[in-house]
Amino acid sequence: MCDLSMESLLKKDPVLPRVAAAEEVLWLNPGLQSAETALPPMELGMADILDAEARLQRFAPFIRERFPETAPRGGLIESPLTPIPRMQRLLEERFGAVIPGRLLLKQDSHLAIAGSVKARGGIYEVLKHTEELAMENGLLSETDDYAKLASPEMREFFSRYTVQVGSTGNLGLSIGIASAAVGYKVIVHMSVDAKQWKKDLLRAHGVQVIEYEADYGEAVKQGRARSDADPMSYFVDDENSRNLFLGYAVAALRLRQQLAEQNVAVDREHPLLVAIPCGVGGAPGGVAFGLKHVFGDSVHCFFAEPTQAPCMLAGMATGLHSKVSVQDLGLTGLTEADGLAVGRPSGFVGGVMEPLLSGEVTIADPKLYTFMRALLESENIFLEPSACAAFQGPAELLRQQEGRDYAARQGLTAERLANSTHIAWATGGALVPEDIRKAYQTMYL
Ligand SMILES: *Cc1c(COP(=O)(O)O)cnc(C)c1O
Repeated sequence: MCDLSMESLLKKDPVLPRVAAAEEVLWLNPGLQSAETALPPMELGMADILDAEARLQRFAPFIRERFPETAPRGGLIESPLTPIPRMQRLLEERFGAVIPGRLLLKQDSHLAIAGSVKARGGIYEVLKHTEELAMENGLLSETDDYAKLASPEMREFFSRYTVQVGSTGNLGLSIGIASAAVGYKVIVHMSVDAKQWKKDLLRAHGVQVIEYEADYGEAVKQGRARSDADPMSYFVDDENSRNLFLGYAVAALRLRQQLAEQNVAVDREHPLLVAIPCGVGGAPGGVAFGLKHVFGDSVHCFFAEPTQAPCMLAGMATGLHSKVSVQDLGLTGLTEADGLAVGRPSGFVGGVMEPLLSGEVTIADPKLYTFMRALLESENIFLEPSACAAFQGPAELLRQQEGRDYAARQGLTAERLANSTHIAWATGGALVPEDIRKAYQTMYL
């Protein structure tokens, strides 16, 4: 048994009293190791990421058939990587940020189908399950043209099966829309934080939405129990799924290609600093895992979480991972950032990130909207508030002494930082309806 008393928890890392006081913090991970040391002993590796990438390639003809908006990319679901120099200047002038080098926005907010980073892991997991079912039943082989999966006969076959998932919103959208496109019956178990428009959109896709008065953890528990009781049902396990994780990790291979196309070097002399909003940990963890495989010690990965729901930070700074919740630290777990409204982190992801993550930042809810408006004002790009947590990374890292100390320890000299690339990983936004966007404009003003 571990001692979860507040007194014992707060002693585990100097940052924790400030986390428990819901302050905005910058935490540098004392457990960070070199990629060369950290990666080889891990359960998953580059071969698994490449296997996931190959599977997405096999499915491209099917995706293209079902989601014509992916045709320009040949059925691959990928997002733009966009320089945002005006936002960079605004962060420096208005927020005191120090951002040498260039700031780019990875617009997973604009991924096809789900309009969020969940289009990576969520859709990948549904496709992997689909491939397994079809192959087990002798309906598919790896060399087939996967467009055949879109036929009415195949749809009929898949309609005998159910897919279920627990979600704060965006994972439900991704799994729901993808599963419905294959032909499955879909049940999404939504936590109390989930936005009404996300439930409405899912129902419009024929997805059964079950709402709970409780938080994300409870929605997952109920969903899992219902799915386990039905032999024809498959449960997407956001907290432990290796499939989801690998689907996210493929982002790194795609990013490598995009950076090369834009003539952006990443190496010891040209470091890459990435900030990704974090909920249960699967999406940012998978992306960061992929990035460490591709760029090694040249990439520095930071997660960003709400001050009231910093579950991954709580797990990592205490070393207790999924055994600790933000409620154990006296926090509410409640946040407007619905994609990040998670009280207990994935134990699996926490373990993987222990030697790989550079650190974390936390951000108070009102600032999510401030950043959201700043990006609209400077670049005319809309992100959902959750995604705007990403800006807290570049805004805070080098502004704070601890961040500058980290840079010094890592050999990030002034010259190297001048050659650096910062990526704010924008995790969602494209599907937010116009009236909701309008309402966001005046939040916390
Ligand atoms: C889900 C989500 C995240 C974080 O992903 P996790 O896998 O829950 O950590 C970040 N931003 C948005 C917009 C999301 O929907």
